[in-house]
Amino acid sequence: MEMNGKPDVRDWFPSEDGNPAQRKRMLDLIEQLVRGVDELKDPDGVNLKGEKRRDANFYGRLAAESEIPQVGAPMENVNEELLKLLHGHPYHTKYFFTNILPMASIPGMLGMLTAMLVNGNNLWDVYGPAGAEAEVRVIAMMSKLVGYDAATSGGYTTWGGQGAVFSGLRIAIAKAVPDALKRGVPNNLFAFCSEAAHYSLLKSVEATGLGSDRLVKVKTLPDSSMDIADLKRKLETVARMGGVPVYIVATTGTTDAIGIDDISQIRAAAEENAERFGLPCPHIHADSALGGFFAFFNDYDMEQNPLGFSEGVLAMLEPIRRKMQMLSLADSLCFDFQKLGQAPYVSSLFLLKNAADLKLMDLDAEDTPYVGHRGYGEYHTGYTLECSRMASSISMYSLLLSFGTEGYQRLLGQFLEVNRVFREQLIAEIPQADIANPDNPGISTLIRIYLPGSPRFADEIEGTCSAREIERSNQLNERLFEKLGERRDRMFFGDTKKHLLVGSSEGREIPLYVSKFFVISPHTRPEHVHEVVQYLKECITEVCEASGVPAVN
Ligand SMILES: *Cc1c(COP(=O)(O)O)cnc(C)c1O
Repeated sequence: MEMNGKPDVRDWFPSEDGNPAQRKRMLDLIEQLVRGVDELKDPDGVNLKGEKRRDANFYGRLAAESEIPQVGAPMENVNEELLKLLHGHPYHTKYFFTNILPMASIPGMLGMLTAMLVNGNNLWDVYGPAGAEAEVRVIAMMSKLVGYDAATSGGYTTWGGQGAVFSGLRIAIAKAVPDALKRGVPNNLFAFCSEAAHYSLLKSVEATGLGSDRLVKVKTLPDSSMDIADLKRKLETVARMGGVPVYIVATTGTTDAIGIDDISQIRAAAEENAERFGLPCPHIHADSALGGFFAFFNDYDMEQNPLGFSEGVLAMLEPIRRKMQMLSLADSLCFDFQKLGQAPYVSSLFLLKNAADLKLMDLDAEDTPYVGHRGYGEYHTGYTLECSRMASSISMYSLLLSFGTEGYQRLLGQFLEVNRVFREQLIAEIPQADIANPDNPGISTLIRIYLPGSPRFADEIEGTCSAREIERSNQLNERLFEKLGERRDRMFFGDTKKHLLVGSSEGREIPLYVSKFFVISPHTRPEHVHEVVQYLKECITEVCEASGVPAVN
C-alpha cells in the first residue's frame, strides 16, 4: 500500500485481520534474520563470523556517526544492519565455557514471540490476560516443584536474580517494620549473606536505604557455603548492639563455585537468635537464581535411575539434591529462567511462600488511578517495583511444557557429565592444575594452576601459607587468564579474581584467582572434553614456561 508515494504506516505492523500476505511478509523478514545468523555460524570457534574493528575509539566513533535518519529504510535493509551487529558476537558453540551465559532455547523464544504478538501489559489482567494466566500457572508449577503450597504461595516475574533479592528485601523490611514504608527505614536493620553471595544484596541494601554498612558478610567454608557458626556469632552481635536482623540471603548455588548454603541450618540459627532476643524472625530468601533448577531432581529416583545417568553423575547429584530439597524452608526464592531455565533475557521468577506478604507492599486504591481496584480485572500487580511488566511468564510456561521435568533433568545431567569427565581428565593430564571447587560437583569447575614447589590448593585453604606464595600463584593464574583471554575466539573460558578468601601466615586474607570451565552450552558433549583439556594443557604449559619453569612432565 502506498500513500503519497510512501508505504502505508500499517505495513510496519502485524495485520488486523490475519491476512496471509502480511503474515508471509513478516515470516520472510524473520527468516531473513534466522538465515543471516545461520550464515555467520562457525562450530569450530566461539564467535559468529564477520569483522568488528573494536579499536580504542570504537564507541566514540559510534557516538559520532549515529543519527536518526530523516526517512526510514525498508525492513529488509534494516535487517541487514541488525545482522551486522551480530558480527563477531560470542555464540554458544561447544567451546563456550564462560559463566552463566546460556543459549536461548527455541521454546523460550517462541514464548517471548507469543507475548510480543499481542504485547499485553502484565501489570493488570485487563491489559495482559495471557501474561497473568501464564504467571499464575508458572508460579504454581514452580511452587509445587520446590514444595511450597501452591494454594498460598505467590510471586511474579521480575528483572533478574537481582530483582528477586531486592524484592525479598523490600518485603523483609515491611514485615519487620510495617510503617517503614511511610516513615522511612530505621537505622538499626541488618541484612546478611555470605562472602560468596552475589553482589545483588549489596545493591539492594544501597537502594532500599539500609546502607551497605548494615550488610553483614558471613564467612564461607572451603565449599563456598555459608559458615553457620559465623552466622550465629554475627546475628548475636547485631542483636546485642540493638540491631534487628531482617533479611538473610541463603545462596543456593553461588555464581562461580556453585556452593550451596544449608537453608535448614540458616533457618534454625535465625529462629534461635530471634527467640533469644525477642525479635521477629528475619525473612530468609534463597538466592536460587542459578542453582534452583536442580530442584528438578528432587523427586528423581536415584535407585532406578530411569535416565541412565553415570555413577559419577549420580554421586554429583546426591549432595546437590540434599540441599535443594530444603528450598521450601525459605520464605522466598528465585528461578532465573534466563540462566539454567534456557529462556531469553529478561525472565526471572520471584517466588514467595506466603502470597499474603505481598499485601504489605501493595499500593492503595487511591494511588493507582489508572489500573486495578476496579469492578473488573482481578489480577493487578501493584506490589512490584515495576509498573508496566513484560509477560516473560509466557516464555517460562512454554519452556516448562516443552522440556518437562525430564527435559531439564537430561540437560542438567549432560552439563554434569561433561564436568565429571573434564575433572577426571584435567587431573590426569595437567599436573600443574588443581580443582578449586572440589566439593561442589556442579556445572562449573574452577581451575587453579601452580608452579612446581608452590603450595597447592589443599594447602592454601588451610590458611597457613605465606601471603607471598599465594600472591605468586595468583599472578601465575592471572597470566593464564590473559592467555585464555587472547584466544577466546577459539575457546571461551571464564575467570574470577574472587574465589574463596583464604587466610595467610601473616593473618591477611587473600582471594584466590581461578579460571572457570562453566558448562552452559547444550552443544558441549562429553566427547569434546579431550580436545578442551589438550588445549588447556598447551596454554598452561606456555604460561608456566614463560614464567621460567619448565613444564612438569
Ligand atoms: C546471576 C545471579 C544473580 C543476579 O541475577 P541477574 O539475573 O543477573 O539479575 C543473583 N544471584 C545469583 C546467585 C546469581 O547467580
